[in-house]
Amino acid sequence: MSDDHASHAISAYGSRINSTPNIDRIAKEGVRLDNCFCTNSICTPSRAAILTGQYSHKNGVYTLNDALDPKRMTIPKYLQLGGYETAMIGKWHLVSEPQGFDFWRVLPGQGVYYDPEFIESSGRRKYQGYCTDLITDFSIDWLKNRNVEKPFFLMCHHKAPHRAWDPAPKYKDFLKDVSVPEPDNLYEKLNGRAKTVQQVKMRVGEDTTERDLKMKPPEGLSGDGLRKWAYQLYIKDYLRCVQSVDDSVGRILDHLDNNNLRENTLVVYTSDQGFFLGDHGLFDKRLMYEESLRMPFLARYPKEIKAGSRNSDIIMNVDFAPTFLDYAGLGRDQNMQGESMRTNLQGRTAESWRQSMYYRYWMHNSDDHHVPGHYGVRTKQNKLICYYNKALNMKGAQPPDAPPEWEFYDLKKDPREMKNSIADPREATTIATLKRELTRLQHKFGDEPAHF
Ligand code: CA
Repeated sequence: MSDDHASHAISAYGSRINSTPNIDRIAKEGVRLDNCFCTNSICTPSRAAILTGQYSHKNGVYTLNDALDPKRMTIPKYLQLGGYETAMIGKWHLVSEPQGFDFWRVLPGQGVYYDPEFIESSGRRKYQGYCTDLITDFSIDWLKNRNVEKPFFLMCHHKAPHRAWDPAPKYKDFLKDVSVPEPDNLYEKLNGRAKTVQQVKMRVGEDTTERDLKMKPPEGLSGDGLRKWAYQLYIKDYLRCVQSVDDSVGRILDHLDNNNLRENTLVVYTSDQGFFLGDHGLFDKRLMYEESLRMPFLARYPKEIKAGSRNSDIIMNVDFAPTFLDYAGLGRDQNMQGESMRTNLQGRTAESWRQSMYYRYWMHNSDDHHVPGHYGVRTKQNKLICYYNKALNMKGAQPPDAPPEWEFYDLKKDPREMKNSIADPREATTIATLKRELTRLQHKFGDEPAHF
């Protein structure tokens, strides 16, 4: 898993801006999921959802500051009990110490790219080198030295390509002399969207910092000119960080393939959420728009998964844990809210498989990106989002309440989500159906509506 790696920066997903030959190997030799979504598009909560198979309101990790309760059942704990040797290496970011791992070596909080410190059960230590390379070295060392009598479960979690996008020295000049293609909506001003969305501080240029871009903007640059200039700087550093992640995937696949582990190992590549790559003029994630909501998910398991296959079922990050339990032959935990996607990955989707997904972001205007709390429903064709304009389950100052605001997008007609059609009378029936579906999903997953 990587951090903030959007699928549209992976060539197997048709990236226009980079090439990831090693990550593509998993797609070529396995399956690509085209509709895999996170249930809360931010680091800590998505990681908690992956480990527990539960939504934020169920697992208690709503925001970046919430700790994962060490007593809670998680996928590594189950696998460990089931006889697996387990390890967690890299970015953890769940405040509390990792549990359920025979070995763990994690970055403190967010960690740093150059000469990072890591924490393990014996204490803290600083290592010389580049974070992505070190996490890869540690992972391969663990694979080499593990107990070969046992099956294994390794979570290799990169910090990259998270902000502030510090590249490896060897990729410092990568893409230096090229102009990275801009997204078609880089100069969008967010007009026509919910008012609360127009306030977000994730605009390329306006909200990227000197730390992000590693230099000050030229004197007098503003507006679209500033955005154009900032886009090239941040996207190049982002893609340089991705390049090291791609190298890492290649090294780990080579290790598995050269050690007779290819046929019998399920390999997954994913990221904790997506990322805006200048889409809608934005960077970062959090919002329920496609670029942020969508997770890359590629899986290789030659025994069961057909090489080069594609799947467009609606899959969620809370499905990962039940899926791993299924593969390990450990049954299912009724407290997990996701479903095993094992048969989906084989190309045999159950007729009863879900037709919609529920999303909720909780960090209401609470940090410098100023993104409102919201929830919504996405089907294969449509998306309905409610910004309920209230701070809930959040500590600290609470802004005054305002009426809820809604957005609706027809993803077939408007895949880039450029026109909020909430007031279009021709969509009224569809919107009413989606509102009922939203209520149904909140009830099903045990979440509380906030828009009344
Ligand atoms: Ca993240």
